[in-house]
Amino acid sequence: MSFMLTCPNCGKRQVGEFTFRGYFKSRPQQSDDFASWTSYVYFNKNKIGKQWEWWNHASGCQRWFIVDRDSAKSTDHQSVWFENRKTLEHE
Ligand SMILES: [Zn+2]
Repeated sequence: MSFMLTCPNCGKRQVGEFTFRGYFKSRPQQSDDFASWTSYVYFNKNKIGKQWEWWNHASGCQRWFIVDRDSAKSTDHQSVWFENRKTLEHE
Protein backbone atom coordinates (compact mmCIF):
# COMPACT_ATOMS: atom_id res chain seq x y z
CA MET A 1 0.00 0.00 0.00
CA SER A 2 1.38 3.38 -0.93
CA PHE A 3 0.34 6.66 0.56
CA MET A 4 1.77 10.02 1.50
CA LEU A 5 2.95 10.74 5.03
CA THR A 6 3.87 14.10 6.51
CA CYS A 7 7.12 14.51 8.42
CA PRO A 8 6.85 17.49 10.81
CA ASN A 9 10.32 18.56 9.68
CA CYS A 10 10.38 17.79 5.93
CA GLY A 11 6.73 17.84 4.87
CA LYS A 12 4.68 15.39 2.81
CA ARG A 13 6.63 12.43 1.32
CA GLN A 14 6.02 8.91 -0.01
CA VAL A 15 5.53 6.40 2.82
CA GLY A 16 8.48 4.38 1.46
CA GLU A 17 10.81 6.99 2.96
CA PHE A 18 9.56 6.14 6.46
CA THR A 19 9.87 3.25 8.89
CA PHE A 20 6.85 2.21 10.97
CA ARG A 21 7.58 1.20 14.57
CA GLY A 22 4.14 0.32 15.91
CA TYR A 23 1.38 2.13 17.64
CA PHE A 24 2.07 4.54 20.47
CA LYS A 25 1.47 3.13 23.95
CA SER A 26 2.14 4.73 27.30
CA ARG A 27 5.09 3.26 29.21
CA PRO A 28 4.25 1.96 32.73
CA GLN A 29 5.81 3.63 35.74
CA GLN A 30 8.92 1.98 37.19
CA SER A 31 6.94 1.08 40.32
CA ASP A 32 4.13 -0.66 38.38
CA ASP A 33 3.65 -4.40 38.83
CA PHE A 34 5.01 -7.23 36.69
CA ALA A 35 1.70 -7.71 34.86
CA SER A 36 1.71 -4.10 33.66
CA TRP A 37 5.24 -4.42 32.30
CA THR A 38 4.49 -7.79 30.68
CA SER A 39 1.49 -6.31 28.94
CA TYR A 40 3.52 -3.30 27.78
CA VAL A 41 6.37 -5.38 26.37
CA TYR A 42 4.60 -8.43 24.92
CA PHE A 43 0.99 -7.61 24.12
CA ASN A 44 0.04 -5.37 21.22
CA LYS A 45 -3.30 -4.39 19.81
CA ASN A 46 -4.03 -5.03 16.18
CA LYS A 47 -6.44 -2.18 15.81
CA ILE A 48 -8.10 -1.09 12.61
CA GLY A 49 -8.96 2.57 12.64
CA LYS A 50 -7.55 5.72 14.20
CA GLN A 51 -4.52 5.35 16.41
CA TRP A 52 -1.25 7.07 17.31
CA GLU A 53 1.78 5.51 15.65
CA TRP A 54 5.55 5.86 15.85
CA TRP A 55 7.25 6.69 12.54
CA ASN A 56 10.83 7.47 11.62
CA HIS A 57 11.85 9.45 8.55
CA ALA A 58 14.60 6.96 7.72
CA SER A 59 15.36 8.28 4.22
CA GLY A 60 15.11 11.92 5.25
CA CYS A 61 15.86 13.79 8.44
CA GLN A 62 15.91 10.48 10.46
CA ARG A 63 13.77 12.00 13.22
CA TRP A 64 11.07 10.15 15.16
CA PHE A 65 7.55 11.50 15.43
CA ILE A 66 3.99 10.43 16.15
CA VAL A 67 1.24 10.17 13.56
CA ASP A 68 -2.48 10.19 14.28
CA ARG A 69 -3.59 7.94 11.42
CA ASP A 70 -6.51 5.78 10.37
CA SER A 71 -4.86 2.45 9.62
CA ALA A 72 -7.77 1.35 7.42
CA LYS A 73 -7.82 4.38 5.12
CA SER A 74 -4.30 5.87 5.32
CA THR A 75 -5.66 9.15 4.01
CA ASP A 76 -6.01 12.05 6.42
CA HIS A 77 -3.54 12.09 9.25
CA GLN A 78 -1.75 14.46 11.60
CA SER A 79 1.98 14.28 12.38
CA VAL A 80 3.47 15.80 15.52
CA TRP A 81 6.66 15.62 17.55
CA PHE A 82 6.45 13.41 20.64
CA GLU A 83 6.55 16.43 22.97
CA ASN A 84 3.53 17.92 21.17
CA ARG A 85 1.39 14.76 21.29
CA LYS A 86 -1.11 16.33 23.71
CA THR A 87 -2.65 18.10 20.74
CA LEU A 88 -4.02 14.75 19.54
CA GLU A 89 -7.54 13.81 20.56
CA HIS A 90 -7.38 10.09 21.33
CA GLU A 91 -4.89 7.55 22.68
ZN1 LIG B 1 11.87 14.36 7.83
